[in-house]
Amino acid sequence: MAQGYFRYLLPHHAPEGEDLVYVPYWRFKGMVFSCLPSGIQTRFLDVSRQAVPSPFFPASVGLRSQAMKLHFVSPDAKGWFIKPTLPFRRVMDTFLTRFNRGMPGPILHQCHIGESLSLIYAPFYIGKKIIDAVLNQPVSAELDETFELNQFSGGTVDWRIRFMPTLCPNCGWDMQGRRDALILYCKNCESMWQALKQGMTRVNVAHMPGDEDENTVYLPFWRIKADVVGMAFNNFADLAKVANLPKVVQPGWNRLPLHFWGPAFKVRPHSFLRLTRQITLAQPRDHLVPQAPKGAMHSVNLPISESIESLKLNLAGIIRPNKAVEAHIAEIQVTPRRYLLVYLPFAVHHHDLIQTTFNVAINRKQLSLAGNL
Ligand SMILES: [Zn+2]
Repeated sequence: MAQGYFRYLLPHHAPEGEDLVYVPYWRFKGMVFSCLPSGIQTRFLDVSRQAVPSPFFPASVGLRSQAMKLHFVSPDAKGWFIKPTLPFRRVMDTFLTRFNRGMPGPILHQCHIGESLSLIYAPFYIGKKIIDAVLNQPVSAELDETFELNQFSGGTVDWRIRFMPTLCPNCGWDMQGRRDALILYCKNCESMWQALKQGMTRVNVAHMPGDEDENTVYLPFWRIKADVVGMAFNNFADLAKVANLPKVVQPGWNRLPLHFWGPAFKVRPHSFLRLTRQITLAQPRDHLVPQAPKGAMHSVNLPISESIESLKLNLAGIIRPNKAVEAHIAEIQVTPRRYLLVYLPFAVHHHDLIQTTFNVAINRKQLSLAGNL
């Protein structure tokens, strides 16, 4: 599951003498991939639900989280932040149960990937009525009992907000990374770091050198070594067989290691699926340099934990013929062992970014739009 972000919607106005309260909502925003007997179905979902059950407030933030700009909670934010009491898992199960009711067939395998988890605080004013402070509209009739804020645990903002450290743990240099970047880069000692629960952890990184000019951008991919049980999928010869590639298996292919590949950046579900399949089939292995590239890098905003969720889906997307998926998917188990962040060079064209070695293209507009996913 992705790491959480604490963000909030800004209140519309501040009436005198009314309490500003922030109500927490879990938001699932991401891709759902369902393996059905007819193939893989992709859907993009953006849904939210109260993280603290209360009849006083709307059950979800509705379209507000899509239409309004979300802000990272700042330490000087005024108001009372109610603490979430429902675990995300339970809210997610409710979403999926509802979603799966509409499926046109048995679900052989399902995974959800993306910025799966975030906590959104929506502001309300509490006076005689409860006012939605974003829409500036009452959400309740006049309250017949006093609204006791103390029935919810919470507090002012500083009770839980942690800030991402941006100094390199190795050399103390200021690191670079956009606000949504999950991996920070230290230009000074050329190391890369990700913030995990246990603190800043160094990420092993490599790149395939491209042309050193402004027409090259490096896109990040997760390369994952995994053990597969239930199907022979351990080396390049296995890949050729499972994918039914129109190639004659060469001697030595059974000694070439096999890795799962997938984008380390957000992109629309269909492109995610296509890139995952194309790069995994290509198995980039030559000329990998064990350091970050010098050129422009696209930021990593899909964490390794999400990429791991997609391993079985990745395999299902490769197996040919399609009906073999139905026959085998249930008994297949994929266990990740190691991972590496690999940057591949893409040539910048007018509409597309093109990886010329593997003949893989991504629409530029799609990639920039994906920043809002
Ligand atoms: Zn450093």
